Amino acid sequence: RLAELTQERGWQLYLVGGAVRDLLLADPEKTLLLTDIDLVVDGCHQSYNAVENNQQNDKNPPAVELASALQKTYSNARLDVHGQFQTAALLWHNDPVLDSLWIDIATARTEFYPYPAANPEVEASSIRQDLYRRDFTINALALRLTEPYQGELLDFFGGMNDLQNRQIRVLHANSFIEDPTRIYRAVRFAVRLGFELEFQTKDYIHYAINSGIYEKVQSENYSTQQRVPALETRLKSELKYILQAPYWKPALQLLGELKALRCIHPTLELNQELWRQIRLVDRGLIRFDPEKTLTHWQVRLEVLIAHLAPEYRGDVADTLQFTLDSIERLQQLESAKADVMKRMPECQLASQFYRLLAPYDLPMLILIAVQSPRWVRRRIWQYLTHWWTVKPLLNGNDLKQLGYKPSPKFKQMLDDLLVATLDKQICDRKSAEAFIK
Ligand code: ATP
Repeated sequence: RLAELTQERGWQLYLVGGAVRDLLLADPEKTLLLTDIDLVVDGCHQSYNAVENNQQNDKNPPAVELASALQKTYSNARLDVHGQFQTAALLWHNDPVLDSLWIDIATARTEFYPYPAANPEVEASSIRQDLYRRDFTINALALRLTEPYQGELLDFFGGMNDLQNRQIRVLHANSFIEDPTRIYRAVRFAVRLGFELEFQTKDYIHYAINSGIYEKVQSENYSTQQRVPALETRLKSELKYILQAPYWKPALQLLGELKALRCIHPTLELNQELWRQIRLVDRGLIRFDPEKTLTHWQVRLEVLIAHLAPEYRGDVADTLQFTLDSIERLQQLESAKADVMKRMPECQLASQFYRLLAPYDLPMLILIAVQSPRWVRRRIWQYLTHWWTVKPLLNGNDLKQLGYKPSPKFKQMLDDLLVATLDKQICDRKSAEAFIK
């Protein structure tokens, strides 16, 4: 229907990006479920540019016009219009027929980078230029959905060949300088699809990293007129994608080999020590947070940032828009570690370990554990295994039933009960009641 609507207006419509790649890679024997579809309209520059230049024009931009027309047929879809460049999205959520589907419609556009790693400026253009602004040849294929030549595959940059040879290849030498987040995308696609980074593409990555990419990420906050998300936001979202994926370990390993963590901070290297910490964190999360109440990818990211010298941690976490409690944790990690190291040798009873460690939340304890000597780590694991969730054997209601009147003393009594429970002076209700009396 959308193709018909486009044709009626004399425009062309293309399926682009990941959907084309995934269709071409799909096993013909299996059903491929596309949930995120990118479409590009072409052949409508004049009407579009009139709108872009704020000239008098009572027409919607082409993408919005098409999406609105389609919504008349599919009234259960939500229509979102975003950005100054006016792309439109149609969203179906839990639809009985379409289930969850996201269709993005954009007008063919090209991007200019005012300086390396800047946010691109965007301008209307042809489908070829639209494809040329993309990250890799395998993501720069388009499938024509309108007549004539409906079903034609547009492959200007050798994407089909790279799909066959399982290669991730950029479209031009400056690609990673323009947008360092593409390094993370290259790694993500390589690991996810089981592809290789093409030889020269790898060289371009090395070149971009050696040219001081972190400074570029940092100098980003220039634009007040952002048409695409800021670079830090995109870097964070690529980190998130990678660290929450099932293949996060090999992806992180490859990022480490490429020295790509320097995009986060010039001193950040994936050395043996950091790997050891990451593996320990993973074990800690599996053991102590099996229900995944924590956001595991965020804890992994915190471990990476915690590996930086203390004076850099807060700023980097801030730049990457970590949550406030995460920033605070990273800022307090050194003093927490020092506190635990100093006081732990004096602890003998379970209740003493409890008093020392209970003020810290689980991610902080995991960070302290992986950055501390073995004897400290073992005690923290012991605390988390045996004592962390221990509660006093009686609660406030039980005390009331025993005839005690609610008073500030209640807290002290419950505290004493907890200590006695931890230190195994009491083991059941009866002994707890006797203890209170
Ligand atoms: P996925 O299956 O992971 O969603 P995708 O290819 O659909 O893969 P998106 O992040 O949704 O990935 O991006 C859609 C398309 O937009 C890509 O296929 C690519 O053509 C283009 N694109 C996305 N990010 C960039 C970027 N940083 N630089 C250039 N092109 C990009």
